[in-house]
Amino acid sequence: TAALDAAEASQGALNAFTAFDRDKTLAMAKASDDKLAKGEGGLIEGAPIAVKDLFAVDGVSTTACSHILDGFKPPYESTVTSKLWAEGGVFLGKTNMDEFAMGSSNETSYFGNVINPWRANGSDAQLTPGGSSGGSAAAVAADIAYGATGTDTGGSIRQPAAFTGTVGVKGTYGRASRWGAVAFASSLDHPGPFARTVKDSAILMQAMSGHDPKESTSLPLDVPDWIAAASASVKGKRIGVPKEYVMDGMPSEIEKLWQQGVDWLKAAGCEIVDVSLPHTKYALPTYYIINPAEASSNLARYDGMRYGLRVEGSNLTDTYEKSRAEGFGDEVQRRVLMGTYVLSAGYYDAYYLKALKVRRRILEDFEKAFEKCDALLTPSTPSAAFALGTKSDDPISMYLNDIFTVTANIAGVPAMSVPAGLDASGLPLGLQIITPALDEATMFSVGAALE
Ligand code: GLN
Repeated sequence: TAALDAAEASQGALNAFTAFDRDKTLAMAKASDDKLAKGEGGLIEGAPIAVKDLFAVDGVSTTACSHILDGFKPPYESTVTSKLWAEGGVFLGKTNMDEFAMGSSNETSYFGNVINPWRANGSDAQLTPGGSSGGSAAAVAADIAYGATGTDTGGSIRQPAAFTGTVGVKGTYGRASRWGAVAFASSLDHPGPFARTVKDSAILMQAMSGHDPKESTSLPLDVPDWIAAASASVKGKRIGVPKEYVMDGMPSEIEKLWQQGVDWLKAAGCEIVDVSLPHTKYALPTYYIINPAEASSNLARYDGMRYGLRVEGSNLTDTYEKSRAEGFGDEVQRRVLMGTYVLSAGYYDAYYLKALKVRRRILEDFEKAFEKCDALLTPSTPSAAFALGTKSDDPISMYLNDIFTVTANIAGVPAMSVPAGLDASGLPLGLQIITPALDEATMFSVGAALE
C-alpha cells in the first residue's frame, strides 16, 4: 500500500505512471505477505514492480503510450511479467514511455513527458529522464518501485538508466521473451530491468529471463546464476576500450568518467586492452534503416479495426487512414514513412538490404574484439540528462543520443549501464559494459566492480 500511495502521489511531480490497478496490487501484495509469513516466496517476493506500458498485464490498460491503443486492456499477460509475478513481484503500475518506444526523451508519449527526479545544482529546469523507458527509470530512481521493466531497442533501457542514476540491463537477444510486449522493431527489441544496484538488476534479469516456447526467437537455454555473478571477482578479466567510441566534441567530463572506469577496473585486477570496432560509424544509419523498416511492418496491424481507436471514415480505406492519422503521433508517422520507403520495391536493395549487410559487419566487429577481451567499457551516453524540450523538434540530434547504445542492439549482445558518478552540475552519468552473446555473467561481475 505504501508503494502504491507513493506512486500515486508522485504523479504530479514526475508523471511516471499511466495506469494503476489498486485491487490487483493489493491482492498480489496480500498473497506475497501470506507466502512470506509461511517462510516461502520467490526471488523478489513482495517487491513492487513498475511495468513499462508496452508489456501486457492482464486486464490493465496497455497502450504503448499511443492514442491508437486507447482503452486496450489485454486479456493476457506478457511472459516477462508472468515470470516476475511467479517470483513474487507485485504489480505497482504501468509506466510512461515514448509512443511505441520511439524516442530518447519520453516526450513522444500520448500521456505527456516524464520529469526526471534529478535537477542540476541550483537549477529548477525540468530534465528528461531519457527514453523510451523514462517512466520506469524515474519510478526506480525516485525509490517508488524496487524495480521496473523496460525494453531496449536502441538504448531505451541504458540511456534512461544513465540519465537517472539507475542500473539498466538488456541481455543477449532472446534471453527475455518478447511475447506479450508491443512490438517495435522485433529483431532489435530486448526486454530488461531497471534497478538501483547491480545485484538487484541481476535478480530481476534472472527472474524475467528464460526460454519461452511461445516466442520464436526465445533462446532455448537455461538461465545461468547471474545473482552469483554479480558478486564474483573480475580479477584477470580483459576489458576492451574501443577507440571508435571517442567522439569528436565529446564533453571532457564523459572522457574523464570513462578513464575513471578504466582505473577502477585496473585497481580491481583487470587488464585493459585497446580494441577497434571499425564499423561503429555506420551503426546509427544502419539502425535508422532497420528500425523503421521493422516498425512500419509491425505497426501495420493498427488499422482502427482490431484494437483501440477507430475514427469512422466514408469507407474502409478512409477509416484506416483517419484512424492512423489521428492515432499515431509525429515520430511514429515519421518512422512509418521512412520504413515503407526503405522497404519499397525501388529502394529495398539500396537501403534495407545494404543495412542488413552492414549489420553483419558490425556483428563481426564485436566478434573480433571479443577475441581480445572479455568485456567492453564505454560511456552510456554522450551527455548527462538534457532539459525537456531542447531536442524534441530536432529528430537528428535526438537520434545522435543513441550513438553508444545502438551497436549492442544491432549485434544482439548483452549490455548494461551502471551509474558511475556525477557531472559538474551534479547530474548522474553512466558507464556501459558490453559482453559477448550469452555472457551476461561477466557483464554483471564487471558492473558490480564499477559500483
Ligand atoms: N531512441 C531510439 C529510437 O527511438 C531507441 C528507442 C528504444 O530503444 N526503444 O529508436
